[in-house]
Amino acid sequence: MKINIAVDGPSAAGKSTISKIVCNTLNYVHLDTGAMYRCTAYKALKQGISLEDEEAVCKMLEDTEIVLTPDGKVFLDQEDVSLAIREDAVSMAASNVSKLPKVREDLVKRQQEMAKDKGFVMDGRDIGTVVLKDAELKIYLTASVEARALRRYKQNQEQGVTLQDIHVIEKEIAERDYQDMHREHSPLRQAEDAVVIDSSDMTIDEVVAEILRLVDQVIEANQ
Ligand code: C5P
Repeated sequence: MKINIAVDGPSAAGKSTISKIVCNTLNYVHLDTGAMYRCTAYKALKQGISLEDEEAVCKMLEDTEIVLTPDGKVFLDQEDVSLAIREDAVSMAASNVSKLPKVREDLVKRQQEMAKDKGFVMDGRDIGTVVLKDAELKIYLTASVEARALRRYKQNQEQGVTLQDIHVIEKEIAERDYQDMHREHSPLRQAEDAVVIDSSDMTIDEVVAEILRLVDQVIEANQ
């Protein structure tokens, strides 16, 4: 039996890293919804469309193809943008564009379509509360701002993304948390039925083990 797993939480909490490992272990498919908001912001920036112009961004989306491949690549209109959308400048732009309700509506529809069946681990901000309300397991993965900034710094270093001072990353993460938690539409919040995992003092393996334990528990209860 396969289930769907929703993983929400603030930026750089390790949602994607953890989700990928869980997927490899269980032979599930990972859907990184943040990448879709990043693609939207990236294309709007490139085309000189204001990130506040809801109508123009939605019009742009009508003509936009976003493909998330099973091996974790992101294609925007057939171009591999997997790395380009990780730049810190795109992060805040993605958060800005994600405030627009009609943009959310469009992307949420695409996400629900992608995860029609079971066997998906979808990560984002509104997965347990909006996109996959009926997911059998909901995780709210969080960590202190300091722990998350350090992880993001190391990740940028490894991926060859432009390196920023760690304090700048900390500030950017705190700002994005605030913006994502206080926006009017689908703000980041913990679903009532989510299990909270604070990974500040946990290793990746420990977090993965805890999620796999919860998956077993849910499957056992549903059999
Ligand atoms: O997860 P990631 O940091 O790549 O997401 C980039 C931005 O996209 C977030 O800061 C958030 O504003 C937005 N987002 C969202 N809903 C999601 C996923 C991401 O609003 N499901």
